[in-house]
Formats: sequence, C-alpha cells, structure tokens
Amino acid sequence: SFDKEKSSSVAKIKVVVRKRPLNKKEIAKNEEDIIDTNSNCLTVHETKLKVDLTQYVEKHEFVFDAVLNEEVTNEEVYSETVEPIVPIIFQRTKATCFAYGQTGSGKTYTMKPLPLKASKDILRLMQHTYRNQGFQLFVSFFEIYGGKLFDLLNDRKKLCMREDGKQQVCIVGLQEYRVTDVETIKELIEKGSSTRSTGTTGANEESSRSHAILQLAIKRSADGNESKRPRPVGKLSFIDLAGSERGADTTDNDKQTRIEGAEINKSLLALKECIRALDNDQGHIPFRGSKLTEVLRDSFVGNSRTVMISCISPSSGSCEHTLNTLRYADRVK
Ligand code: ADP
Ligand code: MG
Repeated sequence: SFDKEKSSSVAKIKVVVRKRPLNKKEIAKNEEDIIDTNSNCLTVHETKLKVDLTQYVEKHEFVFDAVLNEEVTNEEVYSETVEPIVPIIFQRTKATCFAYGQTGSGKTYTMKPLPLKASKDILRLMQHTYRNQGFQLFVSFFEIYGGKLFDLLNDRKKLCMREDGKQQVCIVGLQEYRVTDVETIKELIEKGSSTRSTGTTGANEESSRSHAILQLAIKRSADGNESKRPRPVGKLSFIDLAGSERGADTTDNDKQTRIEGAEINKSLLALKECIRALDNDQGHIPFRGSKLTEVLRDSFVGNSRTVMISCISPSSGSCEHTLNTLRYADRVK
C-alpha cells in the first residue's frame, strides 16, 4: 500500500465506521453500549451463554482506517471522509461514498449532509481556483428499488440504464440540474429525500429497501466557453444503501418482500466484490452482479476513489447486525 500512497495522497479505498449514540428506545429497554472505540480500533463485547446457561463475554476486535465514535459530529465526518476527495474530481476522477448498515444505524443521518457540504466546496473551487475555466456542477438523485431505477427529482419517474460504447453509464431520462448556488442544491436534496422516504406507502420501511444515489457531476465547456456543450470531467456519488438486514429477508412470508430481499442481498454482495476488485487492480470487475453495481460501473473503472462509511448501533440488542456490518466492512478494507 506504500505505492498507493505514493501515487496519490488520497487512498483508493477508505473504510470508516461510525457508531451512533444509544437512542431512547434502546435505553428504555435497558440495552447497553457494547462498543468500545480507541483511535482506529473498535471492540464489540458480545454476551454469550455457556451450556450451563451462565453468561460470558466474547470480544471481537476490528481495525479500520478511522473509527468515529458517538461524539463525532457530521462536520467531522465530512472532514474525515469526503472533503479530501472533492479536489480530485476536478482531475477526471470518479469518487463514491457509501453508507452501509442496518436500518436505524444512522446511514441517512450520516449521508444527508455530505452532498451539501461537498457542493459548497466544489462551488468554492469553481469560483476561486478554477475561476473562468468553464466548469459546471450538475445534481441528480435517483433510487434503486427492487432492481428498478426511479428519479427522485422527477416524481419517481421510472428510468432505464444504457451503456454507451465507451463504458460510460447513461441513465436515460434522468433529470440533471445545473446548479450554481448552495440554496438550490439544498432544495434539490430536500426534495429528493422526501420523495424517497414518503415512497408509495409513506413508511420509513420503504426507504430501508432502496438504495438512494445522489450524484454531483462536474462538466466543462471547451475553452471555458459556456455556450459549448459541457463534457463530463468527474463525478462524486453518495449512496445511502438499503438496510443491510433487508438482504436477509429471503425467507419472509410475503413474496414481494422476498424478491426485494434477494435483490438487496445480491447488490450488497456484488458491491463488496466490486470494491475488493478495485483494490486488486485486476482487470475484471464483476459489475454485472446487480443493478447497483451496473449503475456504478463507470465509478469502478480507472482512477476512482471509494469511501465506505459503515454505520453501527452501539446497543446490545443489535449485536448480531453490528458484527455483520463490521465483517462486511472488514472484507472491503
Ligand atoms: P438509517 O438511515 O440507517 O435507517 P437513520 O439515519 O434514519 O438510520 O437514523 C436512525 C435514527 O437515529 C434517526 O432518528 C437519527 O436522527 C438518529 N441518529 C443516527 N445517527 C445519529 C448520531 N450519530 N447522532 C445522533 N442521532 C443519530
Ligand atoms: Mg435511512
């Protein structure tokens, strides 16, 4: 990995874990915080039963690029994860930030502020460092639900994906908004987020079964001449993944739930394989495994960057899901 450090100051893959505070519900149930953090190390204290039914504690230790404890603010999460990759998307690089974890672990809480903060930095770079160089910023926001694509900025219009000859992914009909001020971006993020969470039944249940993808694309008109058609330069994608526990819904009584569970399971497994392949620099990357990885195909080839934020609950009641999340993150790093 020394070579990797040398080739760029920003690591190709960064895996961080964010632990949220215990919530009221967990406290009311007398659940305990079973996660200790110390610098970039994390220990899970799992209570188990012996055959004679006496309890013992098994410790599971993990090391990540960073461990963000319950005191870490969203501002600090941004500095640790996305801020370092913002400048490199002006250098023809694609970068992706994922939030992974069970429903209720803090994915959306963590993810939602990041694109706005990134946009502020991007616009600032355009107005200063890259002033009058023809760079433009575009925002799109869509979700993958049951293997299908829906535009979150256009009344959940169903979308299709196509690949052009140059391995660029094209989502036909996806609304892309050119933005020049932070206020507009904020409104678009709010609009897309509410379209997602209200879904068809209005339940939070819905959003836990979909992957939400917000993309900030940087384009550039030749010679800084805005009347010329801008060409893609770089892209920053923010992915609020479906609840990781949903991938286990493959034995549910409800057929639709089973189908969705199978699709989520497939996409999370394919994602893990694609990120692992990135690090190996082997030519073959298994995008075809799922709609999610197909859509992100152009972010997995070439000189790309990936940040995975694994969100966990501190509570004893979530121990099993937490261990699953940490093992997934451990495989990716
Ligand atoms: P997910 O998107 O993974 O299902 P949410 O982001 O909706 O989970 O978080 C579940 C609840 O926990 C929300 O009410 C959220 O505000 C709260 N929460 C999550 N992370 C934190 C945190 N780090 N600090 C304070 N509250 C948090
Ligand atoms: Mg969520």
